[in-house]
Amino acid sequence: MLIDTHCHLFFDELKKDLAGVLSRASKLGVTKFICVGTNIEDSKESYDLALNYENIFSTAGVHPHDSEGVPKDYLNQIKELLNNQKVVALGEIGLDYFRNISDRKTQKKIFREQLELAQETNKPIVFHNRESDDDILKILSDYPDVVGVSHCFSSSYEVAKKLIDMGFYISFSGNLTFKNSHLPDVAKKLPINSLLVETDSPFLSPVPYRGETNEPGRTRFVADYLAQLFNLTINEVANVTTENAKAIFNFS
Ligand SMILES: [Zn+2]
Ligand SMILES: [Zn+2]
Repeated sequence: MLIDTHCHLFFDELKKDLAGVLSRASKLGVTKFICVGTNIEDSKESYDLALNYENIFSTAGVHPHDSEGVPKDYLNQIKELLNNQKVVALGEIGLDYFRNISDRKTQKKIFREQLELAQETNKPIVFHNRESDDDILKILSDYPDVVGVSHCFSSSYEVAKKLIDMGFYISFSGNLTFKNSHLPDVAKKLPINSLLVETDSPFLSPVPYRGETNEPGRTRFVADYLAQLFNLTINEVANVTTENAKAIFNFS
């Protein structure tokens, strides 16, 4: 069994055929899903999905892109969602200096406020980091009790190593499989018991479906790629990454 630890099932492309999406996933051995919120509205939608499907879990949080214009009481709204058992993490939060859709100062402020909430509620975080390694590491080091997942990892081995030493898991998505990616060299140097797999659907479809709308079932291609890199069977990769996900998200 594989878990897609990061997908956005509330996007129209996936939502309009959710039954088909989930059944195709099941045929590929992907049977659990963490639907990750990016703002208050879709965090609520994610929780609704978690309530309606036994094998869907959700998160609640504000993405760096959505940092500007958060409702005044956004922290309370996240906190309320986090009270529910099926809401397994605070996220996705973080920094994105590649697209800079919200200004950096606001991104940092909203990231810190949500880290404080993670500390207070004892929930793991799921964070997004695009071209913001230095600030991510600096800010996370101010919250030493907070652990979680570096999702869609795309940085260097040195950054991965530092994050693992701080108690974080490293999650790989379809970009691990892209031609000329530096990520296979990073991944194979990391301990497999710190790794997770995800799709980030509907984005980042792995080879051989690159450029298409991504679906949670394609977690399988990321896991197959890791199996090759580590010289393990797909079952071994599925078992380890599933145990890792259960450990960090505290679900059975
Ligand atoms: Zn992300
Ligand atoms: Zn995402």
